[in-house]
Amino acid sequence: NIRDSLNIRHMMLQNLEQAAITCDDEERDALTNFVIVGGGPAGVEMAGALAEFCKYILPKDYPEYPFSIMKIYLVEAFGQLLAAMSDKASMNTLKYLKKLGVEVLLNESVSDYDGKIVRTKSGKKLLARNLIWTAGVKGDFPKGIDQKHVVKGNRLKTDAYLKVEGQKNMYAIGDIAALISEETPNGHPQVAQTAIQQGKHLSRTLVNTINKKTVLPFKYRDKGSLATVGKRRAVADLGKLRFGGYFAWLLWSIVHLMSISGFRNRLMVGFNWAVSYFSYEKSNRVIIRNFKPTPYYKTVKETIQNEK
Ligand SMILES: Cc1cc2nc3c(=O)[nH]c(=O)nc-3n(C[C@H](O)[C@H](O)[C@H](O)COP(=O)(O)OP(=O)(O)OC[C@H]3O[C@@H](n4cnc5c(N)ncnc54)[C@H](O)[C@@H]3O)c2cc1C
Repeated sequence: NIRDSLNIRHMMLQNLEQAAITCDDEERDALTNFVIVGGGPAGVEMAGALAEFCKYILPKDYPEYPFSIMKIYLVEAFGQLLAAMSDKASMNTLKYLKKLGVEVLLNESVSDYDGKIVRTKSGKKLLARNLIWTAGVKGDFPKGIDQKHVVKGNRLKTDAYLKVEGQKNMYAIGDIAALISEETPNGHPQVAQTAIQQGKHLSRTLVNTINKKTVLPFKYRDKGSLATVGKRRAVADLGKLRFGGYFAWLLWSIVHLMSISGFRNRLMVGFNWAVSYFSYEKSNRVIIRNFKPTPYYKTVKETIQNEK
């Protein structure tokens, strides 16, 4: 959400500013290092964007820093990035990120964080005041639902009509819903398309139920997956078509531009993207609010504890 993205932006800018006036070498490294936890689309896109920042913006804004001062680590517990996409997409992503200078740690999971040192299960220690958690989302729902109807990620098990198991008049759609079947043993992917299609399907189900007409089970139509890796590179899985590079990135840009509501917004965002594409200039690097890190790293600690 917007609050979180503003917090990440301000955490980053404040730490870079602090690093510029810090004499302690270790503390300066911690302030300029970034650890991103989770190699799904959010983690990969974040790592790519930060690497671009490090390459093109950092030398302009902080000429006193050497290019190598900002280290970006992407930690993934599984053996590959973008595990929900094809092997080709995973391999291309790894290649693109390495080229951008991101250090990717596969088969590693974060076990502890004290606000400065990130520890992994295999015993690695990464110095970083900037930790970004992209290892999935957790559902939130009112008390009273039997735990046997709740699956991984606090998702609610539904039947094929999106009705929550064990409930008479309660439905779940989007990220919170887990329609478990032979085809989808882990539920549907937690992406916008699932939420949109389930929303439309449920509205039809409710109208048909009221009008005593036949209701149909939900069927997901996979329109494909896209993920960007910095500027000008992306990976795409569209049915049997799998490709990566510039055209995948162009497709990602068009799809996301067309998804923005309203012609005026589309035009403005398109214009901003075009300026940024040619100038490598990201606007508004102004600190307008104070980021207070303490509760955030406590939250990360709690998350790690809960997952143990
Ligand atoms: C960083 C990130 C990047 C993503 N990028 C993509 C992408 O590029 N493409 C894509 O397809 N998908 C992407 N996704 C996934 C996509 O955002 C979700 O799948 C989609 O938003 C799910 O829609 P939803 O309506 O189920 O849930 P949400 O969009 O999360 O909406 C749920 C809403 O409910 C509110 N809420 C929560 N608890 C309560 C409560 N107790 N009472 C009242 N309100 C409550 C929340 O504040 C939130 O506003 C991304 C997700 C993340 C986290």
